[in-house]
Formats: sequence, C-alpha cells, structure tokens
Amino acid sequence: MIEIKNLQKTYSGGVQALRGVDLQVPENITTALVGESGCGKSTLAKLLIGLETPTQGSMTLDGKALMGMPLLERARTLQMIFQDSGSALNPRKKILDIIGEPLKIQNASASQIKSKVFSLMEAVGLRPEMAERFPHMLSGGQKQRIGIARALITDPKYIICDESVSALDVSVQAQVLNLLYDLQKSRGLSLLFISHDLSVVRFISKRLAVMYLGKVVEENLTEKAFQKPLHPYTQMLLMSLPTIHKKQAVVHSGSLELPSPINPPSGCAFHPRCPFAEAICKEKVPELKEQQGGRVACHRSEQLDLSQGLR
Ligand code: ADP
Ligand code: MG
Repeated sequence: MIEIKNLQKTYSGGVQALRGVDLQVPENITTALVGESGCGKSTLAKLLIGLETPTQGSMTLDGKALMGMPLLERARTLQMIFQDSGSALNPRKKILDIIGEPLKIQNASASQIKSKVFSLMEAVGLRPEMAERFPHMLSGGQKQRIGIARALITDPKYIICDESVSALDVSVQAQVLNLLYDLQKSRGLSLLFISHDLSVVRFISKRLAVMYLGKVVEENLTEKAFQKPLHPYTQMLLMSLPTIHKKQAVVHSGSLELPSPINPPSGCAFHPRCPFAEAICKEKVPELKEQQGGRVACHRSEQLDLSQGLR
C-alpha cells in the first residue's frame, strides 16, 4: 500500500497547499479522495507521481520511499490519468504511438508495443482502426479511454485518476466510470480516485478520504461515510448533493467560502464554517484519530451524531 505521512507542500508565494496529509491507499481497492476545489487534491497527486517535490513529510510504497525510487521504476508502479486528456495528448501523434509511448521509453520492440496497444485498446473499448487516427478526430470519452490505456500499458499497480470524468457529459461520465470500475476489478488495480464531486465516488470507491484546506479530515468506508459521516465537513458535502430525500437541512453558522490557503484559520481550519464549533476548535488543531473503524480529525466528533439523511 501507499502510506503518506505528514505530507506538506508550500508553493512559492506562500500557498500552503498541503498542511500535513496523512493517508493510506491500500492495494486492490479504490480509494476516493474528495474535497472542494483548491483543497490540495491535485497537489497530492503531483507529489505522488513526482511532478512536484514535497516541502516535508514522507510517501512510501510497500515500505519503500517513493522519493528515492528511480523515475522509471516509479512510473512502472504508479501512473496518473489526468482530467483534461484532450490537451494532454500530442495532436501530431497517432493513437498507436500515444498509447505505446511509455513502453517505448522502456525499450520495448515495435511488435511488442503494437500487440500490447491493441490488447489494451480492446480492454478500454476502442476499436482497432482508431490506432491510426489522431486525437482531434476523437470524442472526449474516447480521448479519456486513450488516457486510461496509456496509463495501463506498463501494468502499474497503482493508478491515480485526477478528476478523470469531471470534464465529460453525464452519460459519457457513467460509461468511463463503469470502465474504470471493471478494470479495477479485473486487473486488481489500486485506484486513487480524486474528485470534487461526491456523487460520483459512491459507486466507484470502497474507501473515502475527505480533504479540507490541505489536510485529510476523515477516512472511512465510503458506504459508512455516506450513511453516517464522522466529520461535520463530510456531512456538509453530502448535504450539498442534490437529492429528493433530505430529512434535514444543514445549518451553516459562518462563512460559506473556502478560506485562503495562504492564511488558513487557526485550530481546526473548518471552524469558521462549522455549525458545531466550540472554543477549542478555534485554538487547537485536531489530530486524525480512530473512531468507529474510520479516522476523523474533529474535537467534537465523539459527541456528534451526524447523519446526512440519505439512505
Ligand atoms: P485541487 O486539486 O483540490 O483543486 P490544487 O492542489 O490544484 O487543489 O491547489 C491547492 C492550492 O494550491 C490552491 O490554492 C492552488 O491555487 C494552489 N496551487 C496549485 N498549484 C500551484 C502552483 N504551481 N503554484 C502556486 N500555487 C499553486
Ligand atoms: Mg485538482
């Protein structure tokens, strides 16, 4: 599994994108990472694949430090599917070469590459004749399938999907989600599925991690979190989902805006928006601690009986 401990990233300019993230990404299941735009999800993904370096903290894969791992080995173990696959694809390259590129870097022969590309195209639902086409001739859903095939071609154990379906129409979104779900099961992938949209993660993920302003505030089984969240922020995200079955409305006691990551609030960073905040929440940073099989960072979680009213 991937184990992340006290991971911090401060960008030049003083943005504290990650303020001590603790997270585990177990093998063979899908873990969802959710939270509002700007909370640091993509930064975490970039640190994992080595596009950015952490300011502090550790990331290990099966006990081995990710930072010390040679880039080729890291790329064979861990791959990322980006949000905007359209612009990530080189417009002058044929689909065959785009999907096969990671293998070329590993000195595979042309015939090896070709047969692997065609088998993966089949696995992601692309017809073989598309191999000779160029990205601009394809739809958004097809481009995303190419991004998935390309990420899978080196047989990595871990795949990070960063908002991989967010840019797609709802119907295409469902198709790509189904594809990711099937691939995870059939290949035993360990998926870190990043999304700002809680409604898409219930179907695809077994575990859920909720981020708020650069910190994980809840880790839980997805189904448990949906039925009985441990953190008031998780409840707030769930309450904001469109549904016809709401029993109660969430009470907002403060500002609805996400505070600035340059100057985050004291104590629990969620306290200005939390309906349950007390004096201690303003003063002391809550630790992520075990509760009911999950983990939560909230001073008041043991006294609260949260439910978001969805079943
Ligand atoms: P998310 O993916 O959850 O929307 P990001 O990780 O993209 O969040 O961003 C977290 C915070 O870091 C935001 O405030 C964003 O503006 C800032 N940020 C992201 N990348 C950079 C960068 N390269 N330089 C400075 N600030 C950045
Ligand atoms: Mg992002």
